[in-house]
Amino acid sequence: MLYKDLVRVYEAIESTSSRLEMTEILAGLFRSSDCAHIRRIVYLTQGTLVPEFYPEKLGLADKLYLRTLAMAAGTKESEVRQLWAKEGDPGTVTERMFQSKRQTTLFSRPLTLDRVYDSLLKIARSEGSGSQELKMRLLADLLHDATPVEARYLARIATGRMRLGVATQTVLDSLAQAFATKADKPVVERAFNVTSDLGMVGEVLCNEGLEGLDRLHVTVGNPLRAMLAERLPSPEEILERMGGRAMFEYKYDGLRVQAHIDGERIKLYSRRLEDLTGGFPDVVESLRKAFRGKSAIVEGECVPVDINTGELLPFQEVSHRRGRKHDITAAMEEYPVRVHLFDCLYLDGEDLTELPLPDRRTALTRCIEVSEEVRFSEARVLDDVEDVERFFTEALTAGCEGLMAKSINDDSAYRAGARGYQWIKYKREYRSEMTDTVDLVVVGAFHGRGKRGGLYGALLMATYNSETDRFETACKLGSGFDDATLAALPEMLDRYRLPQRHPRVDSRMSADVWFEPAAVLEVLGAELSLSPIHTCAFGKIREDAGLAIRFPRFTGAFRDDKMPRDATTTQELLSMYEKQRKK
Ligand code: ATP
Repeated sequence: MLYKDLVRVYEAIESTSSRLEMTEILAGLFRSSDCAHIRRIVYLTQGTLVPEFYPEKLGLADKLYLRTLAMAAGTKESEVRQLWAKEGDPGTVTERMFQSKRQTTLFSRPLTLDRVYDSLLKIARSEGSGSQELKMRLLADLLHDATPVEARYLARIATGRMRLGVATQTVLDSLAQAFATKADKPVVERAFNVTSDLGMVGEVLCNEGLEGLDRLHVTVGNPLRAMLAERLPSPEEILERMGGRAMFEYKYDGLRVQAHIDGERIKLYSRRLEDLTGGFPDVVESLRKAFRGKSAIVEGECVPVDINTGELLPFQEVSHRRGRKHDITAAMEEYPVRVHLFDCLYLDGEDLTELPLPDRRTALTRCIEVSEEVRFSEARVLDDVEDVERFFTEALTAGCEGLMAKSINDDSAYRAGARGYQWIKYKREYRSEMTDTVDLVVVGAFHGRGKRGGLYGALLMATYNSETDRFETACKLGSGFDDATLAALPEMLDRYRLPQRHPRVDSRMSADVWFEPAAVLEVLGAELSLSPIHTCAFGKIREDAGLAIRFPRFTGAFRDDKMPRDATTTQELLSMYEKQRKK
């Protein structure tokens, strides 16, 4: 397959903002492609080369890319830098460069999909001494043989800015449409949720159809997408939803961890499926000691503990450990952690995800011997509102955020990747007005004035509308930043900067700077109100207004464990507003 055929599809996708049309275009591409190529097409279209949980990451540093481009185009770095400052997007810069500079095409070979993929993978994998030169050479070779439009997309993928706006859900729809029917999407989605590998799902579907997908099972080493919870404001409503009785557990404020145990080999994955193993050798060791069996997948919350008092500490204390390659020993002493396990998804060759929760919990207690560092989540089966309230207070006193209620009915299987009422969170903050934090996505910024001159004065924050797959603004956020964070923001956000509003952002405000929806910040507001200038849930309560968060403050937590689609949804904010009004 020629790379130009893929690029033609990218251009078509970029020229539409209709999700339906995108789905059609992608489905057409999948249908006309050889099954052997589907996996690579899926990854590349999402701006990656491998599933999320693999270590290889593209994203050449801008400086290195700039040097590569100057070398490949036979021009001065200063010239590239100037154009880059003007255009703001390496893709456009590269395309322009090649439109004007290309002198000879005599020796160029048309790029194939395989060559592009193989070279990019080598780039992502090369490390250590001489790797910079190798990366530059490999990329320059590709650019040499690329047409200007191909070069645009090579630049974007190499620098980690593919941004076609094709969400995972769209790829799932397109795959179902291409190789089965629209109605078969749930089967395709299930396969993705248990394997977290969209490329593999595409390839199996193309080769073997839906029956092939049925054969994809939970495997140790392949993280499952996490089961998520809905929220409700009172024990009455929770018990009613659960059929009068449920298992209530402490809701720990930590880092969710999915541990894959295969004999002596243990891997830890985050809720975002990042490999956390390197940052938590102590957890690996204590799990190894606690586990009684051959292989398993267990889930739990990793919480920092104050070694002096034995009290649980806030989540921020463990977030330091993530991705930290050095000083792990120091970090382990500074922030020792404990894991509270709450689920078992696989044990000794058996997929347990279809079993009801009580059976999974039994399996968990069977295969783990508790210790100081590995425990189970505090859990109690309750059917009485007052008992729940008492347990809730107990959880708060223990330093937890509240309770998780979990269904124990026959259909309480582990629903990978799904947010539903099988799990319901009940947090302290529901008791007062808008004291619950929300996680919002940065979509734009406004230049600062006065003391903040030269910096950002405020950020434009959005919720994620899970029905339309778009981002809707809910507030301008300017409070709660300390000086160091304020000074660091421009650089931190620079990699997401866009020349204009992102196609999936709905805004009635015109920001000074636009960003790709990527960074997620935790925000605490005083109340929710109607506003004609914000687009969150626009028209849902009153025809001419959306929802806005009043007096928002940044809590100091960058939720980099969350993808933009994991941010607080428009639907959640709407239900928070409705509950507040009822009071
Ligand atoms: P979400 O994960 O629902 O998108 P979030 O990351 O803001 O949102 P919460 O909504 O506060 O987290 O609650 C869900 C999270 O609570 C889980 O992902 C898990 O990390 C954590 N958690 C703590 N204790 C438990 C428990 N006993 N059972 C399940 N999850 C728990």
